[in-house]
Amino acid sequence: MKKRPTLIVDHRNLRHNMNTVVGWCREAGIDVAGVIKVTTGLASAALDYESCGAKWIASSRLEQLVRAKEAGVKIPLLMIRVPMLSELDEMVKTCDYSLQSSVDTLKALQEAAANNGKTHNVILMADLGDLREGFFEKEEMVDVAKFVENELDCIHLAGIGTNLGCVGSVKPTKEKMDLLAEWAEAVEEAIGRPLEIVSGGATSSLMPLFDGVMNPKVNMLRIGAVTFIGPLEDLRTCYGRKEVEVLSDECFILEAEVIETNTKPTHPIGELGVDASGKVVKYVDRGRRRRAILAVGRADYGDIDDIVPVLEGAEVAMASGDHTILDIEDCSEQLRVGDVVRLKVKYSALMRLTTSENITIEEINRQ
Ligand SMILES: *Cc1c(COP(=O)(O)O)cnc(C)c1O
Repeated sequence: MKKRPTLIVDHRNLRHNMNTVVGWCREAGIDVAGVIKVTTGLASAALDYESCGAKWIASSRLEQLVRAKEAGVKIPLLMIRVPMLSELDEMVKTCDYSLQSSVDTLKALQEAAANNGKTHNVILMADLGDLREGFFEKEEMVDVAKFVENELDCIHLAGIGTNLGCVGSVKPTKEKMDLLAEWAEAVEEAIGRPLEIVSGGATSSLMPLFDGVMNPKVNMLRIGAVTFIGPLEDLRTCYGRKEVEVLSDECFILEAEVIETNTKPTHPIGELGVDASGKVVKYVDRGRRRRAILAVGRADYGDIDDIVPVLEGAEVAMASGDHTILDIEDCSEQLRVGDVVRLKVKYSALMRLTTSENITIEEINRQ
């Protein structure tokens, strides 16, 4: 018997999304770095991205890039979380590119690259207000760029970049893209040559591209979320843009088995305290309704808001670490013990499911 719960990876849908995203970017003169971190570095997804025209494979975790390389990814690997000093040696062996935001790290990187006989390419990060990594003052970045260019002979200054729409929720507007281009010009002037890369952000930076207002100097985007999740999370990634509706939201499907069906009250009976996670919960009394219990839970996917039943009318009502209570009163189809329910997964759920040891990954349409 098939081992469940199962996460189905549909490579045909995945490649459809990757081809579409790479195509949008190509039309605007932008190369894509395919960011695989949400899949916990699924090597087959990296290979898909490569075959669909991504120019780099990127992740925030070095071990995922090591796996991609071992799986045969040939295009350059880009480390997108600024690295720890303790991983520089391993990083220069595996990756040709990394994002950088600290002079101390750059000096140590020079050593690591020299020791390994490598030239490592860096993209200096500009913090344009989102308050994650990056130099905060343009002058500081220009000084560091000159230092890298003139003093660090095993490091090649490939470009500059920024990250928006993350911890600070700052939108990648036309103004921010123009500002990034301005910083790039200042660096180019200081080092006396053009930069190869101006990296304008992540999925959310598709919005200025959709609007046709992307600054022409921006020539790289680092894209993960929208490729893997599609329109299911369009609000989070692209503020509900219509353009992403052509993408599939069925690249990853969680299959869970029904272990009980019953008609039960929707409001608990007795003196209420806290739930399994120690929270005080407000329950809505909707009378007796048909419910199915699935053998999958928050230990696997995290939050019930991050999974969406494919079955019309079904609704996730509550969950424990190992059970998910599905409301199926309004479903035309009846469920029985042993049936399999399919669920779409959002970003956080996908990240967790691909690390859970309880989940069996099944890949379909590989070719
Ligand atoms: C995660 C990440 C990305 C990709 O973001 P998505 O929203 O998944 O497209 C790009 N750049 C950096 C630096 C990141 O950390």
